[in-house]
Amino acid sequence: MKIAVLKETSEGERRVAATPETVKKYIALGATVSVETGAGDAAAIADADYAAMGATVGPRADALKDADAILAVQGPDAASIAGAKPGAYVIAALDPFRQRERIDGYASAGLSALAMEFMPRITRAQSMDILSSQSNLSGYKAVLDGAAEYGRAFPMMMTAAGTVSAARVFVMGVGVAGLQAIATARRLGAQVSATDVRSATKEQIESLGAKAIFVQDVKGIEGEGAGGYATEMSDEYKAAQAALVSSHIAKQDIVITTALIPGRPAPRLISDAQIASMRPGSVIVDLAVEQGGNVEGAVAGQVVERHGVKIVGHRNVPSRLAYDASALFSRNLYNFLSAFWDKEKAAPVLPEDDEIVKGITLTRGGKIVHERLLAA
Ligand code: NAD
Repeated sequence: MKIAVLKETSEGERRVAATPETVKKYIALGATVSVETGAGDAAAIADADYAAMGATVGPRADALKDADAILAVQGPDAASIAGAKPGAYVIAALDPFRQRERIDGYASAGLSALAMEFMPRITRAQSMDILSSQSNLSGYKAVLDGAAEYGRAFPMMMTAAGTVSAARVFVMGVGVAGLQAIATARRLGAQVSATDVRSATKEQIESLGAKAIFVQDVKGIEGEGAGGYATEMSDEYKAAQAALVSSHIAKQDIVITTALIPGRPAPRLISDAQIASMRPGSVIVDLAVEQGGNVEGAVAGQVVERHGVKIVGHRNVPSRLAYDASALFSRNLYNFLSAFWDKEKAAPVLPEDDEIVKGITLTRGGKIVHERLLAA
C-alpha cells in the first residue's frame, strides 16, 4: 500500500493531512509513504522531518504515482491528481455539496472518494471525527481571537492602582467548539455564560463553571435531533430566544457564536439591533460565518465594525492553529485507516456495508454511490 500526502493548494489552508508521527505509524503497519515537497511547510513541519520517519519526499507526480491512498486536508481538484491510479482512495474533507463538480471528477477518474466530514457520530468513530477535532481547536482560537480584538483585560485584577473588572463572555451554541470556548474563556478568568437549543447542554455548561442561559417553558425545547445534532426550532421558541438574548447580550463584552444545523444555513442569532445594544469596544466572534453566519453583518475573512462593536469572521479557524490542527486531523485519518487494516495485505480493507465506510464513501467504481449525493 502506497500512501501519498499532498501539499494543500486552497487559499489560506495551512494544515497537512499527515504528520511525521503518523507517517511513522503507517510505515510500521507496512505501508510506504510519499510526501509532496513542502506539504508541511505552512504547519512548520519540514520535509526532512518526514524523510527522517522513512517517507520519500518529492514532486506531486512522484507522490501520486501508483499511490493507493491520497491524503489531503481539503479535496484536491480532480485535474491536479490526474494520473492517480483508478481505484485509489482520496481521503479528505471533500465538502461534497459545494464541490459537486470535483466529486464527479473523482468518479470519472475511477477514484474512491471518502469524505471524512461525513463520519457517523458513533462511539467507534469518535477518534476518526475531523469535525470534532477541528471544532475543538476553533473554540479555543475563537476566544483568543476575541481577546486580541478586545481592548481590555479578561481576568479580574486587583492591583495597587485599583481593580480591573473581569470580561463577560457569552457563548452561543455549545457543541464541541462552544464547550472548548467556555473552558478557554474560564481559564483566562472571564465571567462566562452560554446557551444552546439542546437542553442536554445545560449540565455541561454548568459543569464548566459557566452560567446557563435558557429559554424556559416553550414547546419543542429539547432541540436535539439525529446524531445528537440540533434541529430547527419553532417560531415560538425563536421569539423567546431572541427576547432572552436581547436582554443578556447588552451586558456582554465578548460573544462567541458557534451554532450550526446540519444541512441548513447557520441560524441567525444576533441582529443588527442587538449589536447596537452592546457597549462600544465589545467583540463578537462568528465561528459560523462560512456557513452563512450567526451574526448579522459578519463578513467571512474579515473583522468589521458595526456600532462600535467588532465582528470577527475569520475563515478556516483550525488552519490558524495549523500545527495542532494537522496533528489531530492526521490522527483522525490514521485512526480510520488503521481500524480497517489487514496485516497480511498491509492495506486497509473497507467493507462496503460497514456503517463507517458507507457513511463516508462518495464514489466507487466510476459512480457516485452516496445516498445524500444521489438525492441532492
Ligand atoms: P454543531 O457544530 O453541529 O453545532 C454547534 C452547536 O450549535 C450545537 O450544540 C447546536 O445544538 C447549537 N445550535 C444550533 N442551533 C442553535 C440555536 N438556534 N441557538 C443556540 N444554539 C444552537 O455541533 P457539534 O459540535 O457537532 O456537536 C453536536 C453534538 O454531537 C454534541 O452533542 C456533541 O457532543 C455530539 N458529538 C458526538 C460525537 C460522536 O459520538 N462521535 C462526535 C462529535 C460530537
